[in-house]
Amino acid sequence: MLRKIGFASALSVITLTSIWSTSASAEPLKVVASFSIIGEFAQNVGGDRIELTTLVGPDGDAHVYEPSPADAVTMSKADVVLVNGLRFEGFLQRLVEASATKASVVELTKGIEPLKMREAEHGHGEAEEDQRDHGEFDPHAFQSISNAKVYVTNIAEAFCAADAEGCDTYKANAEAYTAKLDAADADVKAAVAAIPENERTIITSHDAFGYFENAYGITFLAPEGISTEAEASAADVAALIRQVRDDKASAIFVENITNPRLIEQISAETGVKVGGTLYSDALSKADGPAPTYIEMMKNNIAAIKGAILGS
Ligand code: ZN
Repeated sequence: MLRKIGFASALSVITLTSIWSTSASAEPLKVVASFSIIGEFAQNVGGDRIELTTLVGPDGDAHVYEPSPADAVTMSKADVVLVNGLRFEGFLQRLVEASATKASVVELTKGIEPLKMREAEHGHGEAEEDQRDHGEFDPHAFQSISNAKVYVTNIAEAFCAADAEGCDTYKANAEAYTAKLDAADADVKAAVAAIPENERTIITSHDAFGYFENAYGITFLAPEGISTEAEASAADVAALIRQVRDDKASAIFVENITNPRLIEQISAETGVKVGGTLYSDALSKADGPAPTYIEMMKNNIAAIKGAILGS
């Protein structure tokens, strides 16, 4: 009799264990991230509890991305869709509609303090219905590490809402990653402090660094405004060349997502050397210098500091 009970309870333990491990490992949360930076945040928070698909990959330009039919299929199967918001992803609305996804679409800029777009940008909005036109606010909020922490908190909340069982894990992962972000933020500030104040002006190819400027005190001048597809006018280029010649800019940079032609032209006409590549709206591929967000931020400030100080 005793033996029989022992056998029965052992059996029920085995059954429970196998049900538990099946539900934990066979059904990861299906997550879609709109572009590479958000994808990396999601992976840091989700770990192996999520199955991640990133729509706009390394070195990709989310401003002009054209979704594929496969993207619509991926979206339709998603549990959670993570996006930047503030009209960063011009393709998003059409894709959400085409896929008829039932997933919650979470805007990760929720809770940040949005910056208004700059004066220079106002000339660019040709058509209000143009989905690539960003609207009133600068969407590149991830260019400040304190904002990145808000993205991470929002991701943990979204994952907890979709997968309550994993919530403790998501929160612990978010906390650990946030500590790394704090350390990176201190490193960026220390690098900026080493640059003389009157030399903290540089030129980039599209206006993606407003939040970086606001957080860290480097001034970025950009000829093309905020949209990567907008062509700079001859007057814009002439004005920039004047600024560089007046010695207001210490260095000039290309970006990983934009055509370097215009920057090379300004460099040739002014004699100011191209200081390197800044990663603005996308990570690099795994073998590049910015395969993670933290490496991207460190790479950018190291390139800026190196170009200005000539080291
Ligand atoms: Zn951009």
